Amino acid sequence: MKKILVLEDESNIRSFVVINLRRSGFEPIEAGTGEEALEKWKVNPDICLALLDVMLPDIDGFEVCRRIRASGSKMGIIMLTAKNQEIDKVTGLMTGADDYVTKPFSPAELTARVDALIRRLGVDDAEKSSTEIVSGPFLLNTRNRTLEKDGQRLKLTQIEYMLIKLFMENPGKAMSREDILSAVWGSDFTGELKTVDVNIRRLRIKIENDPTEPEYLTTVWGYGYKWGY
Ligand code: CA
Repeated sequence: MKKILVLEDESNIRSFVVINLRRSGFEPIEAGTGEEALEKWKVNPDICLALLDVMLPDIDGFEVCRRIRASGSKMGIIMLTAKNQEIDKVTGLMTGADDYVTKPFSPAELTARVDALIRRLGVDDAEKSSTEIVSGPFLLNTRNRTLEKDGQRLKLTQIEYMLIKLFMENPGKAMSREDILSAVWGSDFTGELKTVDVNIRRLRIKIENDPTEPEYLTTVWGYGYKWGY
């Protein structure tokens, strides 16, 4: 889970932010003062993004931002500013903040900004590469269980999804009907091998340009199928 530093001295705003970040799947690290925030960051060097309130009882949010940047950290920084004043935005961006959100903000607005910044920073890349398989015009997302062809979402049944996942994970490998049957339907499935052919035919209608001349999911005569792309 991605850690997000939440520096805010007003406890009701802080818990509101914390609850919403948690709901969105982040791990919030809370701090009520600037010094505490810097301490927490030392203990959690893997914090990927910080939400910094400006007006604080000790050092202000800009100073915290400046110190984080002075250490060479590339973490995402969003300033939480109470006043909708141009000066705050300019100072914030000059001290190295990436973005700012003006209070009061809605949970949706905050999470949208956090998500956008994380995407921009590429923090998601490692995660993405392990959940996405690209092959030719196809993009399979194993977290959402979705398939796109040329950017267009294709509607698949669960069986079709499992079939294409099996093929895309094994490009160029000839797979027998028996292999496919046990991988997709389970080894204790007692149905016929024809089940495989029927479902491959349905899948081809969805993924191939011409299902009668398959280019991607090709037939290995007398044996089975392979992802031929
Ligand atoms: Ca404050």
